[in-house]
Amino acid sequence: MALDLPRRFPRRQLGFWPSPIHPLHRLSQELGVEVWAKRDDVASGLAFGGNKVRKLEWLAADALAQGCDTLVSIGNIQSNHTRQVAAVAAVLGLRCRLVQEEWTHWDDPVYDKVGNILLSRLMGAETVLEGAGYSTAVKETWERALEQVRREGGKPYAIPAGASDHPLGGLGYAHFADELAAQEADHGVFFDTVVTATCTGSTQAGMVVGFAAQERPRRLIGIDTAADAAMTRSAVTRIAQATAALIGLNRPIRDADIEIDPRFAGPAYGLPDAATITAIRAAARLEAMLTDPVYEGKSMAGLIAMARDGEIPRDAKVLYVHLGGAPALNAYHRAFA
Ligand SMILES: *Cc1c(COP(=O)(O)O)cnc(C)c1O
Repeated sequence: MALDLPRRFPRRQLGFWPSPIHPLHRLSQELGVEVWAKRDDVASGLAFGGNKVRKLEWLAADALAQGCDTLVSIGNIQSNHTRQVAAVAAVLGLRCRLVQEEWTHWDDPVYDKVGNILLSRLMGAETVLEGAGYSTAVKETWERALEQVRREGGKPYAIPAGASDHPLGGLGYAHFADELAAQEADHGVFFDTVVTATCTGSTQAGMVVGFAAQERPRRLIGIDTAADAAMTRSAVTRIAQATAALIGLNRPIRDADIEIDPRFAGPAYGLPDAATITAIRAAARLEAMLTDPVYEGKSMAGLIAMARDGEIPRDAKVLYVHLGGAPALNAYHRAFA
């Protein structure tokens, strides 16, 4: 069943869809398993894009319909998400206020000056550096930023971390499942195994809902990047259930639909381990595909380990979903010293 979401829910298109899919020949050869990538990292003209653009298309339509004039969001200092919110605000002619918290203690004097935060500032966003600690809970720093916009006479539109814990947050990646099915039909291929990074949850949750609506079962592996798989699981479950209800999915979301692998998250959110760095180098050297130490390097490490030890069988057809993140690389130059 195609969900046909763009016909049912307002969307402001900001990406170049469908995002391309292509085989990763040299990585496949190295692993002995056929691996393709779906490139949400290159699917938008907005400041290097990424998975938040796909989600924000639905929130942007809502913000405009409500007559809001300022997008307010929150993330880590090197957040890809807040950079994409800044990009969306720029092209829509809206103001943007971003709370940049210290979710990662990364000891580098330029951590709060280069990479994503530099790009957000270039695009005209106001960045407020305050608060600490990653969590999917609603943040008081974010509430304060919203209140301040109101006090100044603006009309804020509230976008939670990762655009996840929002009524429309799961629509983008539920629709992704339909987009993928059409590409599979074109290419005469079916991906029985899909690997994605997961953190604030709506990317995986949307896919869970979108794939649940399809006839053929697939294994969707979420590689936890929050280093708190229980928190990630509860976020994914909550958002998947809410999204399923919103779109009228014809079956309940089951516990077994949600697979979250805790093994590749590294020591903490935002901190890579040796396997992350090895995976980043492998993807770069084999495929000229750039992954980052916070998210995609961890999902790539998971893919590599599971293909090597047979947890992903040799006859699998694997899709690695690339969600962006490379703009953070410069801020992490020390990880590659
Ligand atoms: C935000 C992000 C993720 C995680 O997606 P969630 O929807 O927050 O789970 C993965 N990769 C990159 C590059 C991201 O920016």
